Amino acid sequence: MEDGEDTVMGDSHTFPALSSNQPRAQTLLTHLGSHPTPTLTPSHNPQATASSSPGSDQSQSRGSGMGPPDRLAKTSDTGSSSADQFSRLDSLVEPNSDWEDEDMVKPGLPLASLATGLCYDHRMRYHCEVSPESDVHPEDPRRIYYIYKELCRAGLVDDEESARPLAPKTLERIPVRDATEDEITTVHTDAHYAFVRSTRDMPNEELIRLERSRDSIYFNKLTFASSLLSAGGAIETCMAVAQRRVKNAIAVIRPPGHHAEVDKAMGFCLFNNVSVAARVCQDKLGDACRKIMILDWDVHHGNGIQEAFYSDPNVLYVSIHVFQGGRFYPNGPAGDWDMCGEGAGLGRNVNIPWPSQGMGDGDYMYAFQEVVMPIAQEFDPDLVIIAAGFDAAAGDVLGGCFVSPACYAQMTHMLMTLSDGKLAVCLEGGYNFKSISKSALDVTKTLMGEPPGRLTGTAPSKAAIETVRRVRSIQASHWSHLYPKNTVQQIHGDRLHDILRIFQSNQLYENCKLTPLYVYRTAISQSFENQVLARPEIMGQAHPVTNKMEVHNVWLADSLKGYIKWICDKGYGVIDVNIPKHVTRESTFGRYEGEDDDRPTATEELAAYLWDNYIDANQATEIFLLGVGNAFHGVVNLLINRGTYCPIQLDERMLTIPENLYKRVNGVVSFVSENPVRAVASHTQTWLSKWYRENSLVFVASSHGIWNKDLRRPSKRYGTLVQSSASDLNQMLDLHKEAVFEWISDRADGADEETGDEDA
Ligand SMILES: [Zn+2]
Repeated sequence: MEDGEDTVMGDSHTFPALSSNQPRAQTLLTHLGSHPTPTLTPSHNPQATASSSPGSDQSQSRGSGMGPPDRLAKTSDTGSSSADQFSRLDSLVEPNSDWEDEDMVKPGLPLASLATGLCYDHRMRYHCEVSPESDVHPEDPRRIYYIYKELCRAGLVDDEESARPLAPKTLERIPVRDATEDEITTVHTDAHYAFVRSTRDMPNEELIRLERSRDSIYFNKLTFASSLLSAGGAIETCMAVAQRRVKNAIAVIRPPGHHAEVDKAMGFCLFNNVSVAARVCQDKLGDACRKIMILDWDVHHGNGIQEAFYSDPNVLYVSIHVFQGGRFYPNGPAGDWDMCGEGAGLGRNVNIPWPSQGMGDGDYMYAFQEVVMPIAQEFDPDLVIIAAGFDAAAGDVLGGCFVSPACYAQMTHMLMTLSDGKLAVCLEGGYNFKSISKSALDVTKTLMGEPPGRLTGTAPSKAAIETVRRVRSIQASHWSHLYPKNTVQQIHGDRLHDILRIFQSNQLYENCKLTPLYVYRTAISQSFENQVLARPEIMGQAHPVTNKMEVHNVWLADSLKGYIKWICDKGYGVIDVNIPKHVTRESTFGRYEGEDDDRPTATEELAAYLWDNYIDANQATEIFLLGVGNAFHGVVNLLINRGTYCPIQLDERMLTIPENLYKRVNGVVSFVSENPVRAVASHTQTWLSKWYRENSLVFVASSHGIWNKDLRRPSKRYGTLVQSSASDLNQMLDLHKEAVFEWISDRADGADEETGDEDA
């Protein structure tokens, strides 16, 4: 910023430099309008509150003082107004320290004593529609006025309209100015600047025509002027913060900027205010403001900011936005999670794309704690700028999300921990007057030192957890503090359940001489091949940092092993069936797989197949069925379907099979934890439920809904129910082992110790 450059819009006042570590004395202030009231600090200069109302011309024409020189001198006297110099000196860490550095310690709270800045100018309201249609455009000029008024009502602004009492240290006005062409073109092309400037001289009809040909943007003759002020306001705000003239600041500016691309106005945005401000700070302050983080919490993706810094390693852009698979404005793939920057800027672009609207406080806090802050702390910026759209706020119809003012305050509070507190908040979107006003107020109070309000709901949604995990896993390759490192994509290996099955197969052969049964592939889902064995459960503790499951911390829990051993020792035959949660297919390495949807059907098919091909053909007459967890479904269906009718068989067999099955099955033992308890009954064979009741033992977890006191006692169709005191299947299997052995022994012995088969 050169002296004189910023005098375009009015009187200017030059003040001494605020701190000794500034590169040179600069023109700090531009006084706008016609009422020269050079300095004002409410406590020192009460008469400065001239007659004006918020949003009126007069209210803007004063209030431009950055603070009285005498107060500024205090910090200058000390030799350094900045805590930067001594904040890192800690004599306690020096083992031989005899407090020699004590003279470096400055009394008081030099940074906390600085005021928070506020940039607002009513002239940014001049950009409006030439001929408003029936509906008022959401990017309504009154947006910034309502925010300003809210700050006044809270007594934060030294304005005669402000409620009393005023805050002890009111907001320090940062005067707005026109951004220069040179500044705008640090981000935008000359052609784009020339285009926006050309709207100044267009007749209204042409402006309307232009509006229709563009993507979500309107123009009038003052669009250019307002846009320059908005960008200039962002520049002044960020510079004031970066140079420590204020503690931190908020810029209540419009038109917004984050959609404006290098060569394109779109999405209510003309010049990319935040991007221009970041570039200007870098250019003017050099190493003192080299690394800048831009956090964009507008509900829309800031495509313009992303584009401007996509290959810049010194600007970290983090955006939390609704994405909806690229169908939410600004549409397309740019806002997706895998857009991480390119070239030297690779890893400096972080998108957190919500899959849908409706996100709330818990989701934003989760994203901040899990992704935003870890990355921000590692990046360690010199300045943080918030592209602060308040359209994710509860009440905003365009955004459709539910972020509360307290949540905006919490996020602000977290970002204040970075870059020695150098935080500049610049308004972007937000279209519900009340929502944006309340949100901006809470953000401003937090900047000024009030603790953020308490949150009512902090639980993240499943969608947020999934999104954040995905973002973490891809960003982990760019940030050393971020885990888990995404290594599985390069690994070609086997799913553990396949490996375990081989292990179990070997073990069961060793101990019990069990061998896998051949399953004819075309008849039954291929996934059951080799699964006609035991059901294992993996229990383990992931590494606390890498989230990896290390083999020495993982156990294979298999309570059924004890059952199989007992059965084998008794000399019975056994068929052990495992119902897999997932069907292994190729090319799914490293991907999370949920349960297969057609599992119940497949279970039924397998049970029937085993009966028809192995059990029915066997000479055994004493057969016990053991159904654990999901296998319960197959056992029950076997009883109902194979026992009552069999549509694919010939008529005569249909008559013989029921008799055959019920005669040969001596007992059914089931363990049910989470699955529904199913009834065994038939309309045609009314005796079936009675038979089931007499020949079954169904252990149901203590926590199961069937024990609900408000329900009627379950009918006998559910078999002989036993309430287990445990709720985990493996625990239940252990707990009732002896009872089951006894029950089976009694029945089998009663039948002359004939061989029994089991289907688990
Ligand atoms: Zn927006």
